[in-house]
Amino acid sequence: MNKRAFNFNAGPAALPLEVLERAQAELVDYKGTGMSIMEMSHRGAVYESVHNEAQERLLSLLGNPKGYKVLFLQGGASTQFAMIPMNFLSTGLTGSYVNTGSWAKKAISEAKIIGETHIAASGENSKFMKLPDLSGIEIAENTAYLHMTSNETIEGTQFKDFPDTSNTPLIVDMSSDILSRPLDMNKFDMIYAGAQKNLGPSGVTVVIAKEEMLTDSPKTIPSMLRYDTFLGNNSLYNTPPSFGVYLVNEVLKWIEEQGGLAQVEKANEKKAGSIYQVIDDSQGFYRGCVDAEDRSRMNVTFRLADEVLEKEFIKQSEKEGFIGIKGHRSVGGLRASIYNAVPDESVKALTDFMKQFQKING
Ligand code: PMP
Repeated sequence: MNKRAFNFNAGPAALPLEVLERAQAELVDYKGTGMSIMEMSHRGAVYESVHNEAQERLLSLLGNPKGYKVLFLQGGASTQFAMIPMNFLSTGLTGSYVNTGSWAKKAISEAKIIGETHIAASGENSKFMKLPDLSGIEIAENTAYLHMTSNETIEGTQFKDFPDTSNTPLIVDMSSDILSRPLDMNKFDMIYAGAQKNLGPSGVTVVIAKEEMLTDSPKTIPSMLRYDTFLGNNSLYNTPPSFGVYLVNEVLKWIEEQGGLAQVEKANEKKAGSIYQVIDDSQGFYRGCVDAEDRSRMNVTFRLADEVLEKEFIKQSEKEGFIGIKGHRSVGGLRASIYNAVPDESVKALTDFMKQFQKING
């Protein structure tokens, strides 16, 4: 086997080695069919069973919540920013949003193109380094849904809890932390994610929603942007991203093999905890960007005393084989993305490197 990189990319991101190896073994001859999954008709029984298995696995990992459906779409989570208001903001209704930073803002600006929006809570005052308190959140009468971003990939914040929105549907962008912990799906009416962080490769978008959210799309929007098109055709209205769905299914098997979401959460807590520990023990050499209680277990964002030292850190880290440690261009600083598939060895190598770098430059 070739040497695997210490991959801390924010997405597309590290996939489990076991999944890649299984895909490699099955690539040219999937289960005796004489062809790859990529070469098969999406209308055939072989592909359809993979497709259905992936949907069942997802629901099973989420505890088989009653009345929920899984859709496989394309266009990334960014297309959901548009599809959600197109499908739900029919005349007179408002989309309510929690503004937590970069990705929430993108969702809001797309919704504004389509209809009325309202900012129910915002972390703007803290430059999004702290999550807004949602305990007393007020939802106005004509609200179609409340939209949240569970994990802000760029700032490095993550909600630990979700509000009770009573009769108002709660829709959550979980692109960067889906399946990183157990979830009580009954709290959510719809969750969605681009697959390229915790679920598989780019090109597949997963939507999991209560069936009633997906049945009555307004007749004024084109077929490919309507949820009812995908629900009515089991996400096989047109050609699905078939190889991506196959890989998602393999990643889901891998999560099952890890022991399910409770085990995955423990592993994630440990990985994130060990990096935050180095930051907190560094006597200010490293500074976490985010309020301690709102820190993400998926994207650890931190800074050094100045940009010169940060540049040096990135340069040295690249020399040592670390990939993707540079913070997002919009906020600068440093970021280690440690999704489910990032192994302990990568995290251990990073914490050792951070300690060593402090020793030399501190
Ligand atoms: N939401 C969040 C939280 C994200 O992290 C991203 C991608 N980094 C997106 C939405 C956009 O996803 P996509 O590139 O799949 O459109």
